[in-house]
Amino acid sequence: MIETDIIIIGTGPVGLFTVFEAGLLKLKCHLIDSLPQPGGQCSEIYPKKPIYDIPGFPTILAGELIDNLMEQAAPFKPGFTLGEAAVSIEKQADNTFIVMGVKGTKHKAPIVMIAGGLGVFEPRKPPIENIHDYEDKGVEYIIKEPNFYKDKTCVIAGGGDSALDWSIFLAEQKIAKKVILVHRNSSFRGHLDSVQKVIDLAQSGVIELITEAEVVGLSGKDGLESVIIHHQKDGEIVKNTDHFIPLFGLKPSLGPIADWGLEIEKGAIKVDTLDYSTNIPGIYAIGDVNTYQNKLKLILCGFHEGTLAVQSAFSRIYPDKKNILKYTTVNGIQGF
Ligand SMILES: Cc1cc2nc3c(=O)[nH]c(=O)nc-3n(C[C@H](O)[C@H](O)[C@H](O)COP(=O)(O)OP(=O)(O)OC[C@H]3O[C@@H](n4cnc5c(N)ncnc54)[C@H](O)[C@@H]3O)c2cc1C
Repeated sequence: MIETDIIIIGTGPVGLFTVFEAGLLKLKCHLIDSLPQPGGQCSEIYPKKPIYDIPGFPTILAGELIDNLMEQAAPFKPGFTLGEAAVSIEKQADNTFIVMGVKGTKHKAPIVMIAGGLGVFEPRKPPIENIHDYEDKGVEYIIKEPNFYKDKTCVIAGGGDSALDWSIFLAEQKIAKKVILVHRNSSFRGHLDSVQKVIDLAQSGVIELITEAEVVGLSGKDGLESVIIHHQKDGEIVKNTDHFIPLFGLKPSLGPIADWGLEIEKGAIKVDTLDYSTNIPGIYAIGDVNTYQNKLKLILCGFHEGTLAVQSAFSRIYPDKKNILKYTTVNGIQGF
């Protein structure tokens, strides 16, 4: 049994910064995430994209922000259960909670902060019968490290920003040997700038663009070797490729958290904006996972929510202790 002061479900930017704010109050945290690495959406969806609205950083790559938050949290020695979704919660007679992971890891604390973001997110997969056989053998649903595609042929599918931006990036930066973008329609959903850029790159032969077409089959012996494309006018086209990357977006779902007796509105947890507490005393919800009037799903708003939530958590754990706000400039960082 892992025992701590605060169990944080979710290691996105909000969960990580909350470790720091809790640490300033001498509260220890243990974080649980279903993903194998910390960072939430920043690490999983857009590690190489620059963010422009983190106070004090005119620009910072999402992956770098997570590295910095890990470094900032380190003096407070947070514990991590990674690669294991939190599936159940049980209130104990002594007012503590036991949070159980899907692999059976038990965590006990008087406070639970849910920083579960969009929940457990799954990529939307195209309905290709044998696609599972090629996952991690040429089929990827998220581009984490562009250099993985160095000198490779990549078939990207999709019509949104992700498909457009990655096609442009891999082709323009001359990372991939060849980029083939396949899209079902003749028009795109992405930003007009990106659409124009893809069209320009296709006209100059840097990208091969196949519209009104869908990838319908995959083949290869030990890994992916080719894709079969069905074109609305030309019929079947076969393209040899090293990778097939369908970028159709992610399907967010609150997952098991939805069954924990919390008040839910439109797929998010309702909170009191006084301290971001939920309808269950001792359980807080911070970051993208919560909802209230005028909620903004932004990292900086989540940082604020986590900061206020730990102040409230401190009063719950130590009802008789007075907590006086101390500036870090005055008090420094007294790690554990
Ligand atoms: C492409 C893109 C660009 C963006 N750009 C910006 C931007 O410029 N500025 C900005 O402020 N915001 C931006 N955002 C939004 C920002 O990423 C989110 O607001 C932020 O990630 C929310 O952080 P979080 O910690 O609340 O949740 P998340 O980052 O979503 O992390 C939640 C974590 O909880 C985990 N989890 C969920 N349920 C469970 C469970 N039951 N058990 C265990 N783990 C669980 C998930 O696996 C995940 O790792 C962008 C988002 C996207 C997709």
